[in-house]
Amino acid sequence: MKSLWSDGDAQAAVARYGTQGINADWALRTYTTRLLGGVPELVLHGGGNTSVKTELDDLSGAPVEVLCVKGSGWDMGSIEPAGLPAVRLAPLRALRGIAAMTDEEMVNLQRTSLIDAASPNPSVETLLHAFLPFKFVDHTHADAVVALTDQPDGEARARDLFGERMTVLPYVMPGFYLARDGMRAYEDKPDAEGMILVKHGIFTWGETAREAYERMIEMVSLAEAELARAGSRAFVAGGLPAAIAPPAEVAPILRGLVSEDRGDDAEPKRMLLDFRTAPEIRDFVNGDDLASYARRGTVTPDHVIRTKPKPLILPVPEAGRLDDFADRARTALIDYMADYHAYFTRNNARHDGAKTELDLMPRIVLVPGLGLFGLGQSKAGAGGTAVLAEANIRVIAQAEGLGRFEPIPEEDQFDIEYWSLEQAKLGKAAEKPLARQVCLVTGGGSGIGAATARALAAEGGEVVVLDRDGDAAATAAKEVKGLGMACDVTDGAAVEAAVAKVCETYGGLDVLVSNAGAAWQGRVGEVDEALLRQSFELNFWAHQRIAQAAVRVMTRQGTGGCLLFNTSKQALNPGRNFGPYGLPKAATLFLMKQYALDHGRDGIRANAVNADRIRSGLLTDGFIAERARARGVSERDYMAGNLLAREVTADDVAAAFVHLAKARKTTAAVLTVDGGNIEASVR
Ligand code: ZN
Repeated sequence: MKSLWSDGDAQAAVARYGTQGINADWALRTYTTRLLGGVPELVLHGGGNTSVKTELDDLSGAPVEVLCVKGSGWDMGSIEPAGLPAVRLAPLRALRGIAAMTDEEMVNLQRTSLIDAASPNPSVETLLHAFLPFKFVDHTHADAVVALTDQPDGEARARDLFGERMTVLPYVMPGFYLARDGMRAYEDKPDAEGMILVKHGIFTWGETAREAYERMIEMVSLAEAELARAGSRAFVAGGLPAAIAPPAEVAPILRGLVSEDRGDDAEPKRMLLDFRTAPEIRDFVNGDDLASYARRGTVTPDHVIRTKPKPLILPVPEAGRLDDFADRARTALIDYMADYHAYFTRNNARHDGAKTELDLMPRIVLVPGLGLFGLGQSKAGAGGTAVLAEANIRVIAQAEGLGRFEPIPEEDQFDIEYWSLEQAKLGKAAEKPLARQVCLVTGGGSGIGAATARALAAEGGEVVVLDRDGDAAATAAKEVKGLGMACDVTDGAAVEAAVAKVCETYGGLDVLVSNAGAAWQGRVGEVDEALLRQSFELNFWAHQRIAQAAVRVMTRQGTGGCLLFNTSKQALNPGRNFGPYGLPKAATLFLMKQYALDHGRDGIRANAVNADRIRSGLLTDGFIAERARARGVSERDYMAGNLLAREVTADDVAAAFVHLAKARKTTAAVLTVDGGNIEASVR
């Protein structure tokens, strides 16, 4: 592992933060925390923390000795000084030598000692940082250190490798106990440059930011060299069928299985999936004793809160035999859930039944022949879990190359998984109505489509934007932190590919807003057939093709779904010379009813929005000006030429789509958004 220290960057950080009133110690602490946090082999998802002891002035101008220590919720790779909140040192140090303390007492003390009451919670390792007498203290869960010590003889291996340079501490519960036992270990060997936490991670320290950081890099490099000598384990593949089903077909089956039904009144509790594959991942999941090495626990304790102690291992999905795969996958999941429940019951007994069981669903799913899925309540959460799964694979392969992978025992994993301080990291914010749902919007690059994408995302949906214009799709998707793709929806193959990509990226699809359309004109008795067919391609066939592709995914998931079509007032009330536009739109309105009728039993709803006179791609500014002139009214009066005399906007239409997406008991409905047009009113 290479040191990334740069004198120039360090000085620049001191100068930059100095202008914000941050002192040099705090600035340098921020700088090297970022250096550590930017390297996935050192730090992943909150798995590490750093501190510096320095002096700040209080309001009266009197100097106060503080510990600036990593706060929860901040990513070390992009941390700012605010993510290293200042805690008064004296009250923390006063606890040195005490024998016991509850978690609640510890958290309370840490919070009441903060200089700024608005700060995030200081790290669970704050006490150890405070007790150690060094100015800079760095802690990571370096892959190489955990691979070296996740062994039956991990402690002895660490002592052999690091000798007098490092203290070696057998595993102890993080928080107060680690602070207490860590201090005793430090006092036994006060000249050490840091401490190896067996089966957990590593601390290094120093009088300068650079010294603590360089020691981290050096010690991790020693462990890496030791592992390199042994090499990673080559897993032996069991027999695989010749053809494996693609992830886009496997994902919806899996996503459906891990969804929890919540009855008629609520959406199922779905998960988002993040698929990963690579030669190393496939070697790992194809190994013939996968069920042994993959199910011994997580490589470092705090992964367990995001990954659970064990992954779910599925059967091989053979191409063309997905029904059989689905049956066997269901059995594997039922076994997994029973196993998790037994694990909970067994370990909760040690806590006198004081713990509340978490959900039974896996967070990592390994699929031989294919790769792995990370599961989460959001796309970002699923991605975070998948990153941890990849790290586990890396470390287990190294640990098995060196000896035998053996992490902390089940009881200790449980105590972390059900530790209130770890659960607090996950956040319990109420979910938005469309959370956990994957929403696809066609023609989403501008106008009504882009407004709908924004409105779905605002309600918690994970949004995919398709548009003929790839740049517009990308821009609109960026705004909603979703996926944007160029797609001509009149091209059947392109539609299939786009829906497959959605399944591969999110695990499936729940809401389709089939919005793309364009207006063609011509007197129906004279219009060229080619023009009429062109309009049917986009204004009818494109709706049918993507709806069919969506329904295929929805039925595979088995958790219902929602199809929404943008029809138009033309579907109900023909406009003169607008036959080429109105005819296919009328067919699409009927299409919506047919989907509602044929797929209601699958829990799939189909509804339409009938909008009129929206300033958008269809109704260009030039067209509006021409129409207004022809009628002898102002543009404003033309746009507001409805019963309410109010202009209708793309956002109004988007709100209608969102309402229908949430209306669990509405299907075959047309929701009109036109300010009032009695000729186009329904029923
Ligand atoms: Zn740790």
